[in-house]
Amino acid sequence: MLSEFDLIKRYFTRRQRADATGRTVLGVGDDCALLAPTPGMQLAVSSDMLVEGRHFLAGADAFDLGHKCLAVNLSDLAAMGAAPLGFTLALALPSAEPAWLDGFSRGLFALADAHGCELVGGDTTKGPLNVCITIFGELAPGTALRRDAARAGDDIWISGTLGDARLALADALGELVLPEADRLLAAPRLHAPSPRVALGRMLAEGRLAHAALDISDGLAGDLGHILAASQVGAVLDADALPAGPALARQSQALRRRFTAAGGDDYELCFTAPARNREAILAAGAQSGTPVTRVGRIEGEPGLRLVDGNGAPLSMELRGWDHFA
Ligand code: ADP
Ligand code: MG
Repeated sequence: MLSEFDLIKRYFTRRQRADATGRTVLGVGDDCALLAPTPGMQLAVSSDMLVEGRHFLAGADAFDLGHKCLAVNLSDLAAMGAAPLGFTLALALPSAEPAWLDGFSRGLFALADAHGCELVGGDTTKGPLNVCITIFGELAPGTALRRDAARAGDDIWISGTLGDARLALADALGELVLPEADRLLAAPRLHAPSPRVALGRMLAEGRLAHAALDISDGLAGDLGHILAASQVGAVLDADALPAGPALARQSQALRRRFTAAGGDDYELCFTAPARNREAILAAGAQSGTPVTRVGRIEGEPGLRLVDGNGAPLSMELRGWDHFA
């Protein structure tokens, strides 16, 4: 039987990567980790907790789960335009299963290495499966992409595509049955989202965007947070929303519903002045993340959904709320 300390040593302690030595003065093993942000930069800090049965299904693949719980945290840094520094991992486990820990830690570290983001500490305890990561990033003062910074006249942009994660969930829950080829396209969007860190950093460092957030609970609900914080409204073109490749093969009604109010997309929604259109398209190309213009910020409060011809659409578009 693995002890708590064997487990931490075997699965969550690694030699420090050469590219992290400047930032991580002290990693796993002491009472605190010591981080050294670049002088003059601000820290960006975020936590996300994933609970079995609530954020992922019981029996979820351990490798995918390791990837996803870090991906959703990196996505928060991306949405602020911050560069990753490191993260902590608080883990509750029903039992110490070597096969599960091996898969989980491999999924976690594969994504961590892809973003040069080191695991610097955490906590490990017995309990119902629950994974909480706190991530630290840095950005130059005044460059953060805040939710309260949208302005009337801004374009609204979306990175990547929307809706395939929700489509995969519908398939997993038996709400519909996807052909095998579409299931293979959609499932990775639900289980292994790609945080848009490079794009977010370019938008912030180049001062290309005003406001941004990452879409986790569905575009309409999440965009509502920008509108409320910025005290503005928006028009969204439902037929301009970029559907994922599997969702693109579904009916128009389902495309509209899952792109506008899906969930688990982990794409960026950002607002930017029209003069930056070309620079934003170039940042998308350079970061390997397609970007699509889908609407406009207006002074009049509220979210107005229109079709491709500008005719108003009425849809039930509430975002996900854990306590509703
Ligand atoms: P403390 O007694 O101070 O709470 P712990 O015994 O919980 O410390 O942890 C020992 C060391 O291992 C600490 O440096 C802590 O940050 C690290 N640690 C514990 N759990 C994890 C984990 N799941 N991932 C990474 N580091 C961890
Ligand atoms: Mg502890």
